[in-house]
Amino acid sequence: MNQKQLEKQLASLPLLAYGFLEPGELDFTPRVRAVCAGECPMYGKTWACPPAVGSEERCRERCLSYAGCLMLCTVGEAGDITDMAQTLATREAHEAITEQAGRFLRSQGAEIFILSCRSCTLCPSCEYEAGRPCAHPDKMHPCVESHGINLIPAMEKLGLAFSYGGNVVTWVSLIFYNDEEEHV
Ligand code: SF4
Repeated sequence: MNQKQLEKQLASLPLLAYGFLEPGELDFTPRVRAVCAGECPMYGKTWACPPAVGSEERCRERCLSYAGCLMLCTVGEAGDITDMAQTLATREAHEAITEQAGRFLRSQGAEIFILSCRSCTLCPSCEYEAGRPCAHPDKMHPCVESHGINLIPAMEKLGLAFSYGGNVVTWVSLIFYNDEEEHV
């Protein structure tokens, strides 16, 4: 992977910021999955959420099996941030940007695994609850929290915050990658 070329490609995207991390620098903590189980209405309802994504240990091992991690951050503006529908509507643009960044990495020969924001919304209703396999396993991105990752330390390292006030919504994705072609 040619990092300089990748960074040129990333510069064409409307990102607030991005940063490269070693997967081992991420903060994996049981607290995050406890919040999924105790507070998230999507827990147990999609293939993109626990427990369908696998045990905490398996999720951690999956992330740590990659050589690198690209963190992407975008912001959107909702008309009213207290309105969940308006807030979630700003997520689509972030997902499209995450997909494009993934294509950039693949075009450079990297093998990738994407974690993104909130649960998957590709289908009108998830096949998980119907007991059927995921309809789009190649396009579906589990959410970052499903893998037990506390994003705050990584964001602080990049000088980023989750809240910028007003109606600004912050979205973060992680793209784990293995270089199949090493370039200088
Ligand atoms: S692609 Fe469809 S079936 Fe798969 S996780 Fe997303 S909503 Fe569920």
